[in-house]
Amino acid sequence: MNNQELQKIRADFPILQEKIYNKDLIYFDNGATTQKPRCVVEKIEEGYYYTNANIHRGVHFLSQKATEAHEAARSTVAEFIHAAKREEIVFTRGTTEAINLVASSFGYAFCKSGDEIIISVMEHHSNIVPWQMLCERKGLKLRVIPMNELGELDLDAYKLLLNQHTRLVSVAHVSNVLGTINPVKEIIEIAHKQNIPVLVDGAQAVPHIAVDVTELDADFYVFSAHKIYGPTGIGVLYGKEKLLNAMPPYQGGGEMISIVTFEKTTYNELPFKFEAGTPDYIGSTALAEALHYVQGIGIEKIAAHEHELLTYGTKRLMEIEGMRIIGTSKAKSSVISFLVGNIHPYDLGMLLDKLGIAVRTGHHCAQPLIDSLGMPGTVRASFAFYNSKEEIDTFITSLKRIVIMLS
Ligand code: PMP
Repeated sequence: MNNQELQKIRADFPILQEKIYNKDLIYFDNGATTQKPRCVVEKIEEGYYYTNANIHRGVHFLSQKATEAHEAARSTVAEFIHAAKREEIVFTRGTTEAINLVASSFGYAFCKSGDEIIISVMEHHSNIVPWQMLCERKGLKLRVIPMNELGELDLDAYKLLLNQHTRLVSVAHVSNVLGTINPVKEIIEIAHKQNIPVLVDGAQAVPHIAVDVTELDADFYVFSAHKIYGPTGIGVLYGKEKLLNAMPPYQGGGEMISIVTFEKTTYNELPFKFEAGTPDYIGSTALAEALHYVQGIGIEKIAAHEHELLTYGTKRLMEIEGMRIIGTSKAKSSVISFLVGNIHPYDLGMLLDKLGIAVRTGHHCAQPLIDSLGMPGTVRASFAFYNSKEEIDTFITSLKRIVIMLS
């Protein structure tokens, strides 16, 4: 991406022109959430101002228009991740709710005492706790794939964990702490040899690399809109039709029913069976707008630019004495976790903030991973396509000053 293209993109994001403590904002916390282009916010405004009406049930003009926009958004999502059918796209509140939906519904229907769920050591809490809750409820065991010192999953250990009790494998496509891009296609292939379904947590993958759920042969794939330049409060569960059809509803209410009597209720067809209550039809259209925006730039171009930032940022960070980068996998997304000497990550983060630089510090909602590394946490800089090498230069200059001050 040349400088002119980059400046044009940055102009789409009003927040990037903001000053923080009178300094230009440098936003390197994209792993937590991404900023929104003007077109996404305008879509939300347009929805509430001009087409707002509850969907699916109305015969009137506005309701039909809002329904069409919501269902078109579902098709946009299906195309974006290459789902075979739009009915396989269920809107949720986000990645977390999507995983809870599967843990609850799949767990209820297909898991029994003595069964096992496999996750990995680098999972976000949202891909740990729902499974632990299922384990507690039904007497299952949680098994954990370890990793090597580079932050790559140990696939030999994974193969040994799989057995006749394994009911499901659930792993991150990209680690939000280490940046590791896991070989999910291979992980899925291995599990499928034993007819075990796989859920992929794509929260950190979808914004950065091309995802094709059909090519991966993923059974479930989940992500959040807010991490891909869309609004908060909406996300996606992709599930294979056959599995979703076999699973019971997650929540009961309007939309998800076919016929209700006090004696018995029959359920709606996919995807509505899993979408109880009024859905976030404004959020879905704004998510579709965000996906169109990303497509307008091109995910390959985004990946190439972010990879350049990753390589450049890594090289420049290594100039700092005592620098330790956590997560050095060969396949890596634009996330750099680090520590400098014995300086507490919180101190680094706080002082960077005073210079207008937003990074994240702490355990990044992956406490078991951070504990296994024996660290107090890390500082995490995570880049998006609107970040630049010049911002990295300012970040490095600032960090060098801070390190001298704290050493
Ligand atoms: N999984 C991963 C890998 C994440 O990075 C995150 C968000 N940090 C989540 C799941 C949870 O996403 P959300 O809070 O949007 O549900």
